[in-house]
Amino acid sequence: MVIDQSTLRGTLHVNEPLSRHTSWRVGGVAARYYQPADIEDLALFIGQLPEGEPVYWVGLGSNLLVRDGGFAGTVICSSGVLNNIHYLQDDVVEVEAGVACPKVARQTAKQGLQGAEFLSGIPGTMGGALAMNAGAFGGETWEIIQSVKTVDQKGNLQERTPDDYKISYRHVLGPENEWFVSAKLKLQQGNSEQSLQKIKQLLAKRGSSQPTQQPNAGSVFKNPEGDYAARLIEEAGLKGCCIGGACVSDKHANFIVNTGTATASDIESLINKVANEVKLQHQVELKTEVRIVGQADTGQGGLNE
Ligand SMILES: Cc1cc2nc3c(=O)[nH]c(=O)nc-3n(C[C@H](O)[C@H](O)[C@H](O)COP(=O)(O)OP(=O)(O)OC[C@H]3O[C@@H](n4cnc5c(N)ncnc54)[C@H](O)[C@@H]3O)c2cc1C
Repeated sequence: MVIDQSTLRGTLHVNEPLSRHTSWRVGGVAARYYQPADIEDLALFIGQLPEGEPVYWVGLGSNLLVRDGGFAGTVICSSGVLNNIHYLQDDVVEVEAGVACPKVARQTAKQGLQGAEFLSGIPGTMGGALAMNAGAFGGETWEIIQSVKTVDQKGNLQERTPDDYKISYRHVLGPENEWFVSAKLKLQQGNSEQSLQKIKQLLAKRGSSQPTQQPNAGSVFKNPEGDYAARLIEEAGLKGCCIGGACVSDKHANFIVNTGTATASDIESLINKVANEVKLQHQVELKTEVRIVGQADTGQGGLNE
């Protein structure tokens, strides 16, 4: 593939280990891995990719299982690079896709704006939160979205409204091959001290119920309607169940932790085992919340998404 790097200001890596960019700390390499300098540079880079090039986006990799065989295409990383927050009108804030959600929560709270406090509990980027409709403590990402800016595979930027998407619990369906570069958040005037205090309280609750010391990707399965995946998994006797270095957390049954030596294959096998056991014992089909992408180590597997 020929990329004219003289016009680009970002950083292109070849064979970049994605284990460095996922919270589970597992996964093979990306054939190409690009960190854009800014939105303009990103659009220029994407526009140069050959038609049909597989493209995948990684934020903070906190909801992502990359298989051990890696990703045979181009991964775009926005975390820490598309990192600006602009205060537009009194209560509208434009946040770029690479800004970490806890930063959005803290910064808007400090500005005396309320409504984004729940983002403090989501250890991903704004782009990842948009893609997942991430939610915590009763709040959901798209509830506070006025509009989003996207880039398509030709490098075209455009503004879209929530009406352009089908949005539900941890699921967002929009135009194919289009990714989020920023979002306008509609918040309300509030009280800075109260919002910061709320964030502190929400985070305190978190620490006691999640295995924060071991690499994980948050909840592995979506909660089925009217129930909790964690309850079903615990009742199936799977807490502490391990395959290789991957174990169902003792602290939270819907979390799978990497005890240090897990491969992506260990984690995926454990995900399948948990889903099968729950189906057998409870007749409930659990669906993964985590995204699984890439090729198995055999080199035979296709791309999952
Ligand atoms: C300890 C822990 C606690 C968690 N708690 C919660 C929680 O309370 N609630 C919750 O909802 N989630 C939670 N998560 C999961 C995760 O943090 C969220 O899903 C988060 O929104 C993912 O953001 P990310 O930047 O890490 O995305 P990634 O994991 O990097 O990517 C996730 C998906 O989003 C896509 N994506 C990323 N950026 C973009 C973009 N700019 N445009 C288009 N697609 C994009 C990726 O391609 C991928 O399909 C938790 C995870 C951990 C590790």
